[in-house]
Amino acid sequence: MTDDTRLRASLPTIEELLAAGATVVLMSHLGRPKGGPDDAYRMGPVADRLAELLGREVRYRPTSGPGSDDQQAYVQAAPDGSVTLLENTRFDSRETANDPSLARVLAGYADVYVNDAFGSAHRAHASTEGVAHLLPSAAGRLMLAEVEALTKLLHEPQAPFVVLLGGAKVSDKLGVIESLLGRADRLLVGGAMAYTFIRAQGGSVGSSLVEEDMLDTARELLERAVAAGSELRLPVDSVCAREVEAGVTTAVHPSDEIPSDLMGLDIGPEAREAFRAALAGAKTVFWNGPMGVFEVPEFAAGTMALAEAVADLDAYTVVGGGDSLAAVNRSGVGDRISHLSTGGGASLEFLENGDLPGLKVLRA
Ligand code: ADP
Ligand code: MG
Repeated sequence: MTDDTRLRASLPTIEELLAAGATVVLMSHLGRPKGGPDDAYRMGPVADRLAELLGREVRYRPTSGPGSDDQQAYVQAAPDGSVTLLENTRFDSRETANDPSLARVLAGYADVYVNDAFGSAHRAHASTEGVAHLLPSAAGRLMLAEVEALTKLLHEPQAPFVVLLGGAKVSDKLGVIESLLGRADRLLVGGAMAYTFIRAQGGSVGSSLVEEDMLDTARELLERAVAAGSELRLPVDSVCAREVEAGVTTAVHPSDEIPSDLMGLDIGPEAREAFRAALAGAKTVFWNGPMGVFEVPEFAAGTMALAEAVADLDAYTVVGGGDSLAAVNRSGVGDRISHLSTGGGASLEFLENGDLPGLKVLRA
């Protein structure tokens, strides 16, 4: 297992349930199996690590999939007060289809349903949304903490509110950009998605990642930012290279004059300073998406510099997203961020809509 952050985040709820005398049956998923059993994605390693973290036995048996006969028998045999981890819920295509027939079997495993999977709450799946319709349901401690932390960004965030967005694709983050226009005082856009905006303004971005089908949308967003009074800033310069590879030769170019055979792979030194200056004095910050290909040392400086800058602020700061969290953890400043969200897509969608399908059903 590469990172047990989410597993650790689930401990308070599990421990509280056990202390209250519950018999706990855990459902979760791992990776993206294609709707059937796949040995590469079995939950065995998770059960082992969870047993270490809890300091007690975690029952686990590899079974054919959620709701299978062998799984039902294994759950029925759970002793009172035990912890059982079920096989990957995505070993059955009915999970992501939110098929009621699967939700019914899963609901049969317990008397009460507790959803602590904030990172999956933006999807209505059988084990998250479907089952909550069928049992008395509640939010777990992690879910509550996430909602509380992100709600502070929604309702009258203290100004200046600065949003830092990066990562690979504009299309992933379009909804949240739209909804933040007018709410955030400044949006600082880095990462690959910056090049779609720069291209849309007529800049030459070489062979940087550009979503051609998003150019019109990007142009529209730039205009709407002006109208809404949110400043949308793009990196003035970029660290460029011919390929994404450790040890490759790099060069800094203005982001709108990148030579045709080079890609922009990190924000440049001037952009780093400009973004740092734009963060100064911020009272509320939300950050999703690395500023560059931080996985490769040559292109990590922008992300690391901004992680430091965000951590140094006297502000309410939230970082969300799998890769963003990995970057912040690597920079060693994680404990100086107000809230590290375990949900990437979920945190973005919560900011956009103020609710999530997996949450909504818990209130019903
Ligand atoms: P998160 O997981 O935090 O939501 P994303 O998944 O949206 O973030 O984006 C992270 C990915 O974006 C990283 O793998 C990173 O290498 C990639 N990325 C960032 N900047 C660039 C760039 N300029 N060119 C190509 N890929 C980039
Ligand atoms: Mg990611």
